[in-house]
Amino acid sequence: MSHAAAIVVAAGRGMRMGGGVKKQFRPLGGRPVLHWSLEAMEQAPSVEEVVVVAGEEDVDRLRREVSPLFAKVTAVVAGGATRQESVARGLRALTPSARWVVVHDGVRPMAGAALVERVLEAARKHGAATAAVPVADTIKRVDAGGRVERTLERDGLWAVQTPQAFARDVLERAHAEGGSLRATDDCGLVEAMGHPVAVVPGSPRNLKVTTEEDLEILESLVRRRAEGAAVPVTGFGLDVHRLEAGRPLVLGGVTIPFPKGLAGHSDADVLAHAVMDALLGACALGDIGQHFPDSDPAYRGADSLQLLTQVSQLLTARGARIVHVDAFVSAEAPRLRPYLDAMRANLARAMGIGVQQVSVKAGTAEGLGPVGRGEAIEARAVVTVLRHVAPGGLFSPASS
Ligand code: MG
Repeated sequence: MSHAAAIVVAAGRGMRMGGGVKKQFRPLGGRPVLHWSLEAMEQAPSVEEVVVVAGEEDVDRLRREVSPLFAKVTAVVAGGATRQESVARGLRALTPSARWVVVHDGVRPMAGAALVERVLEAARKHGAATAAVPVADTIKRVDAGGRVERTLERDGLWAVQTPQAFARDVLERAHAEGGSLRATDDCGLVEAMGHPVAVVPGSPRNLKVTTEEDLEILESLVRRRAEGAAVPVTGFGLDVHRLEAGRPLVLGGVTIPFPKGLAGHSDADVLAHAVMDALLGACALGDIGQHFPDSDPAYRGADSLQLLTQVSQLLTARGARIVHVDAFVSAEAPRLRPYLDAMRANLARAMGIGVQQVSVKAGTAEGLGPVGRGEAIEARAVVTVLRHVAPGGLFSPASS
């Protein structure tokens, strides 16, 4: 059918901001700038696949880092010497069925899914479209000596942003024909072929990170968004595992001396599993069976605290923040009280939150049921998570 793909360009070396960390990897609201750009694509319902174009030296690391967080990312490929060449390489990595292509800068973190959808809609009508904002300042041409040559007529001047969107054949032709041009954006290549480009009003907040000042402005925008438009939601998790002789007993990452341990495919850490399910539940992201299937040999004997870290990162990638975890472990034996603080510390570390945000309690089942007979251990967890609410008052559209 007519599915849309996105190319997110993150191959810049960030030299304009000096050495150190590249712009696309600088932290913004606690996560890399690039993750914000990818989230816009993840949340845009029409976008079905995302190709990330990165510096050759970052490709392997990004593959590992980005794939578990953004389900739509199908490829991370190495960019070229120029932005134009990088987009061309991204184009070659798209699946054959992609008919529409969104191109977005990895350093425009605040574009948002709604703008992506509006630009795509305009591209479906006109073949090519870009987000842009009318220029507010008077623009003058200045010569090499620092003197004004002339003043440009401000009416009709727009500052072009990304996302830009195209019919795939139009963009491919523009790249094939414009190989010798040095366009600073993809619309430039399409214009050069004489093809019309529609303009969609973008947002002044859709800033490109170019200077330290841009990052400061974006940081304050992110902070305001986080404070003004987040609501606490609740998640619930429950897990039971059978006790079996000769297995280690791992609860909350603590190995407890006991003749029996919990049976299961992973380390069977029933407490960590209940917390993971509660976190996923708070964001309606399914359950741990979907994310870490029993049938996958990768999770045999897996350290559940590492899986808990992955789940926490998944929430962070959705703009959610863990506020509090309260868990209860039911076990007839052994006595768990001496280990509860170590469990709290392990769980907190795995989630990247403070130990005072994690409560773990324990009790027996008074001899009743499978737990009471010492055949199983059960854990329950309730979590509170802050989730971002879109300006209309609804949660951002869920990604598939
Ligand atoms: Mg389990």
